[in-house]
Formats: sequence, structure tokens, C-alpha cells
Amino acid sequence: GAGDIHAEVVVLGSGPGGYTAAFRAADLGKKVVLIEKYPSLGGVCLNVGCIPSKALLHVAKVITEAEEMGAHGVSFTKPKIDLDDLRSFKDGVVGQLTGGLKGLSKGRKVEVVQGYGVFTGPNMIEVTTDDGVKTVSFDQCIIAAGSEPVNLPFIPHDDDRVIDSTGALELKDIPKRMLVLGGGIIGLEMACVYDALGSKITVVELMDQIIPGADKDIVKPLHKRIEGRYEAIKLKTKVTAVEAQKKGLKVTFEDDKGETSTDTFDKILVAVGRKPNGKLIDAEKAGVAVDERGFIAVDGQQRTGVPHIFAIGDVVGQPMLAHKAVHEGKVAAEVCAGQNRHFDARLIPSVAYTDPEVAWAGVTETEAKAKGIKYEKGVFPWAASGKALSNGRSEGMTKLLFDPEDDRIIGGLIVGTNAGDLIAEVALAIEMGADAVDLGHTIHPHPTLSETVNFAAEMFEGTITDLM
Ligand code: FAD
Repeated sequence: GAGDIHAEVVVLGSGPGGYTAAFRAADLGKKVVLIEKYPSLGGVCLNVGCIPSKALLHVAKVITEAEEMGAHGVSFTKPKIDLDDLRSFKDGVVGQLTGGLKGLSKGRKVEVVQGYGVFTGPNMIEVTTDDGVKTVSFDQCIIAAGSEPVNLPFIPHDDDRVIDSTGALELKDIPKRMLVLGGGIIGLEMACVYDALGSKITVVELMDQIIPGADKDIVKPLHKRIEGRYEAIKLKTKVTAVEAQKKGLKVTFEDDKGETSTDTFDKILVAVGRKPNGKLIDAEKAGVAVDERGFIAVDGQQRTGVPHIFAIGDVVGQPMLAHKAVHEGKVAAEVCAGQNRHFDARLIPSVAYTDPEVAWAGVTETEAKAKGIKYEKGVFPWAASGKALSNGRSEGMTKLLFDPEDDRIIGGLIVGTNAGDLIAEVALAIEMGADAVDLGHTIHPHPTLSETVNFAAEMFEGTITDLM
């Protein structure tokens, strides 16, 4: 029919996984169609995830650093916050990047079809667009449908005082008292933003530590700092009921001893995890298996059980991170183009862009203990780093784990300002099979926070001489 399109490779979803796969496949000579339900490309990451959150976290950092300079003899007046201007700054950053993607698609002759796509057969997707249904037939397909926030059944999600990360990034107002439900990365990043803007924050987390994926000693400096700034951090506690009242949201908490308490908040940010969108695309009509949670299983080449259909990003599993989606997108596109690629990365780094940041790559100590992996460690406290002290932020720590057999680095965890940037060196070292001597003998610029990686390796080696 008139609305019919044929693609050699069709990509379903334009997040970091999807656009990367589409561009790579096009660069390798494929005729590519990219299907996206929203007018703006870039998925969660660019529109309502990584990028807008980082723009706001930058602002939060400027505010809190200015506040804390008071202790070092420089005082500023209380910041005046114009929410409309702040929102424009954030939207401008997002717009620049998503607009860029449009240009890049055009340049590569990737045809973007805007609308919601579902499979109708093993070689066919039907897209509901603003001007009717279009059918896209394809030789190969890459599913990059992403994920969405998890809702909780006992929470009135239809009340506009209950928000998820997307709502928090909209920055409608600055609530007086906000409850952040979930002490993971997304919840704590948003807590950091609203705390800086003036909200009184309470964090509630089921586990016995915040950021449960990282080692306890590594999250301690973050915990200590936010404990001083926030109203409360409730660990080993769950929310069992939320009642929408005129004056606020009445929340019932239950701790691990079964003790209950209540408190009333102006807003609740629900950040208890994300669920994959696998169940929403009629995958069964293409013969693609989706598990009960909505994940699509793939092999080491990102192939689903149907050989010409691939899947990447949040929809294939944890960790739900943009750089993982991007890497998988490249693998899938290259396999589509006939190359013999595999997902063979040794590690996927994780970063919480809180203040201080928490970052890790490879094996954590908790994981090593649980799995019986032998390790020895080198730990460098930032209180002995000239740069960290100069920044007035010496609470950080760099911890590296080594294989005791050959001294090769197998993992690293860093807490402190800019930890997210610093972890890249650890990731490279693990990928390249570097050992402690490699890290210890590499001359790092002085004074920088990057020296803490060098020093942690020297602590392990026992060769450290001068800490400052
Ligand atoms: P997504 O980005 O989820 O994109 C999927 C796209 O597919 C969406 O645009 C959706 O509209 C479209 N789609 C789905 N189904 C259909 C359909 N049937 N038809 C048409 N279109 C469809 N990760 C990091 O690495 N670093 C960070 O700092 C970071 N910060 C984050 C902050 C927040 C607040 C959130 C929520 C997430 C953050 N993440 C971060 C996670 C990151 O956003 C995701 O891992 C990443 O976006 C996953 O990419 P993806 O390509 O798998 O899918």
C-alpha cells in the first residue's frame, strides 16, 4: 500500500541503544528505518534521564558548593531561583542533543517514522502514526524499546503530588517536604537536586544501605554528607501505605522490627526501579520470547531466539545504563551487517552522580566475598590527597581490588567529587589486563584526583612514599 515501507534493518525505539544501532547500521551501508513514538529522538536518556538530570545536578553542585564556601571564608547570599529560567536551561541542553540526533539521522539517510510500533509478524511492524497506520517490512530488526518507571500498587499514582523521575525532572515546583522512595541511584540524584533547591528531603530504603550495588564503605561518605543535609534517611524501612489528604500525603512506614510510624509530605518521588517495555510490542507475533517481567533474552551477539531479530539496551536486562545500551547497539548493528561481533566487554561501569559521586567498575568487594573470588585491595583515603584537600572535599576514597595470583586489577570503587570521571581509568586498566605496577608506574599529573588511583595501586604494592 501507499504507507508501506521496506527496511533492510528496522530499529524499534530511538534511545541511546536504538540511535546508535541505527547510525552504525546505516554507516555500514544498510537501508535503515528508525521507529520512535515521540517526536523527539534520544529515548529516556536524552529526554527524561541522564542528560536533564545531569544539567540539574550541575546547578545543585554550584549551589551547595557556594553554601559550603562559607566555612572557608567566602560567603554568598542565598541563591534566588527562577524555576522558569532553570527549566529553560535544562530543556535547552536536551533540545540541543535531540536536535543533533535529527540532523545525524538525516545525514545518514536513516528514515525516522514517528509513531507507536508493534509486531504483526516475523518480518513486519505496524506503526500507528499521526496520519494513519504505516507498515514497515524488514529483513532484520533491532528491538530497543527501553524501560519505564515501576509503579507501586498501594500508592495513589494518579495524585499529581506523587511523581516519578520524569515528573521530578519537569521541575514544576519546589516542595517543602519531599519523600524519596528508594535509595538507589535515580532517587538519590533527584534528592540531591531538590535538596539544593531548598526542599527538606527524607529518603526511605528497604535495604540496609543506600546504593545497594556498591560496597558499604564506599557509600559511607555519601551517606554521612546527606545525613547532615537531609531531614532523615530511613534504612531497612518500607512504605506500606500512602493516603492522599488535603494537607499532604500521609505515609506509613514499617521498619525491620515491624514498628510502624507515619508522617506527612508535600510530594513523594517514587524511584523504586524500572521495568522493561518488552511486553508492549506484541513480540510474540514475531516469535520473540519475552519473560514474565518483560525482558527479552539474547545471546552474545544480541540475537533473540529469532535469528534475524536482535534486542539491546534496557529491554534485555541489567544494568539499565545508557553506555551498556550504546555498546550493545554497536554489536547488534555490526552483526546485522555481517560482521562477527560479540558483546565481550569485561565490565560495565556504574556511576551515581550524587554529591559526592559514587562509581565502580568490575568486581566489588561485596561481590568478591559472595562469589568466593580471591582478592587483595589497595585503599587510598582522599584525606591524604592534596587536590581533594584543596577542593575542600577530602571525604573521598579510592579502592582497587587485585587478583593476588598475578596482581592484575579486577575491580575498583571510588567515592568523591568527580568519581564518575575517575572510574574511566579503572575501566581501561581492567579491560587491558593492567596490573598494580602498571597503575603505580604510570605518571599521573599532580595535583589531581586521578593520582588517587595511582596511590591506591601503590598502597597495594606497598611502594607508596609520599602521600601528598
Ligand atoms: P530508552 O532510552 O528507554 O529508549 C527507548 C525508546 O523507545 C523510547 O524513546 C520509547 O519512546 C521508544 N519506544 C518504546 N517502545 C516503542 C514502540 N513500541 N514504538 C515506538 N517507540 C517505542 N544511564 C546512564 O548510563 N547514566 C545516567 O546518568 C543515567 N541517568 C538516568 C537518570 C534517570 C532519571 C533515568 C530514568 C535513567 C537514567 N539512566 C542513566 C538510564 C538510561 O536512561 C537508560 O539505561 C537508557 O536510556 C536505555 O536506553 P535504551 O536505548 O535501552 O532505551
